[in-house]
Amino acid sequence: MNSSQEHRERVRISGPVALELGKSVEGIFAEQDGLPVFKFFSAGEWREGDRIRDVKSPIDNSVIARLFVPGASDVEEALETLYKKGRWAARNLPGERRISILYRLAGLLEEHADELAEMLVVNAGKPRKAAYGEVHASIDRLRKTPLDLRKIVGDYIPGDWDEHTLETEGLVRREPYGVVLSIVPFNYPLFDTVNKFAYSFLPGNAVAIKPPSSDPLPIFAFVKLALEAGVPGDSLALLPLPGRETERMVSDPRVSVISLTGSTSTGEKVLRAAGIKQFVMELGGGDPAIVLSDADLDQAAEKVAQGITAYSGQRCDAIKLVLVERPVYEEFKQKLVEKLSQVRVGDPREEGVSMGPVIDRETADLVVRAAVEAREKGGKILYGGEKLGENYIMPTLVEVLDKNVLRQLEVYREEIFAAIAVITPVDSLDEAIELANGRRYGLDAAVFGKDVNKIRKAIRLLEVGAVYVNDLPRHGVGYYPFGGRKASGLNVEGIGYSIEYVTAYKSIVFNYKGARVWSYL
Ligand code: NAP
Repeated sequence: MNSSQEHRERVRISGPVALELGKSVEGIFAEQDGLPVFKFFSAGEWREGDRIRDVKSPIDNSVIARLFVPGASDVEEALETLYKKGRWAARNLPGERRISILYRLAGLLEEHADELAEMLVVNAGKPRKAAYGEVHASIDRLRKTPLDLRKIVGDYIPGDWDEHTLETEGLVRREPYGVVLSIVPFNYPLFDTVNKFAYSFLPGNAVAIKPPSSDPLPIFAFVKLALEAGVPGDSLALLPLPGRETERMVSDPRVSVISLTGSTSTGEKVLRAAGIKQFVMELGGGDPAIVLSDADLDQAAEKVAQGITAYSGQRCDAIKLVLVERPVYEEFKQKLVEKLSQVRVGDPREEGVSMGPVIDRETADLVVRAAVEAREKGGKILYGGEKLGENYIMPTLVEVLDKNVLRQLEVYREEIFAAIAVITPVDSLDEAIELANGRRYGLDAAVFGKDVNKIRKAIRLLEVGAVYVNDLPRHGVGYYPFGGRKASGLNVEGIGYSIEYVTAYKSIVFNYKGARVWSYL
């Protein structure tokens, strides 16, 4: 059987999906009908609530666990504790103690790496290699927190550069805002929680975590381990509310900073609800890749295919638009289709599977609808466009030659959060840039080629937060900061960068007038 026939076979689920729970979550769940029901952490205690929700596995949509949902009074009490006690408890720990807690937490994540990876496989549907990748990135992120410290330092300002401030001097320091609300998306539930927690707690903030509804389980383990590592209980809350019920926390004046990673429409709702606060918002994306005619086409095809399909295209930095200079268009297109046909779709628990399910069946349906729309308007499905099971899709590439049609398509205008991309030839770099900038998103872009002048021009003109030259966009642990323009977000996430948005400037002015500290001429 060749690989494209293999792709058209329905995905075979290799056995019942069950969650094996270990020590990382010991003591934080009750049991009901043989399933664990996780308690939430209300800034000081693990609690049960009146309402219970199911948590499913995208592998086969079976229920693998349940959660207690906090009620309004639980949220109120948690915010009150974070605000009245927790923000001071975090801040009163000396910085070196906070950093050793984060180091200890890295060690605990390492100790429980297998359990955390298993949760990511079963609850998020990640192939095992990607699941371990996320766990190790989380550990790495925590161990890199000393690099964040370079941005906590302040300034000394001498007074004698202004006639009104003679005989005075000023210090400008940064201090924690207080309570940070971290709203976490489903695609990197563990890493995004760890990253947001690391840059918020390091300078001394208390943190309320709102996990994603579809795959929150690794975050329960994270909170338990964070407490074990020494994070003060009053300084941390895990409140698994459904998204639409989170707006009451978003608008609460005790929350000073909102760090949201999620879709653009969620970002818009949060901004409307929040009022005046600080924001870090990493929103929708889907990136263009420009392939110049002097690119190494094999290497570019390999990286673009990976950019389209890694974690089933459910990455903000996934490639969704492929713009190829006309002289190499046909050759590149064939190479890309060949690479896509080699991607093995299947049960993520199986060895050798590189593309597991998408998070739910609605997302799988969206891919089919977008491919059909492109075909009906004159495009061509070069590969995929079919479902292989409820939540499983073939990696999908559609070709659209007419640029006016392209601009109207869902796959160009919106972010379809799955492994689907559109490819089109361009007559010049200017045309590629115009099409790349024509999307409402502006997260990253990739440029493949050798001509430094063209590459430099693309870097200058692309309206995005990051440009990857001869590589697929990949944010990794945020060693290089990333953050979108336009509908893709506000501010950046990155080691040593995000800390700016969770700390406030405070100026302190010392007046020594008449004390003869200075003898001016
Ligand atoms: P989502 O549906 O927007 O959800 C993100 C988080 O927001 C979830 O915890 C969700 O809770 C919560 N939420 C939903 N509605 C809310 C509301 N009205 N008020 C407050 N919180 C609300 O996004 P997703 O599907 O989980 O994640 C995929 C999206 O994230 C994509 O658009 C992707 O591009 C983006 N993303 C961006 C970056 C970046 O760096 N720019 C990185 C990763 C992901 P529920 O789960 O309960 O609905």
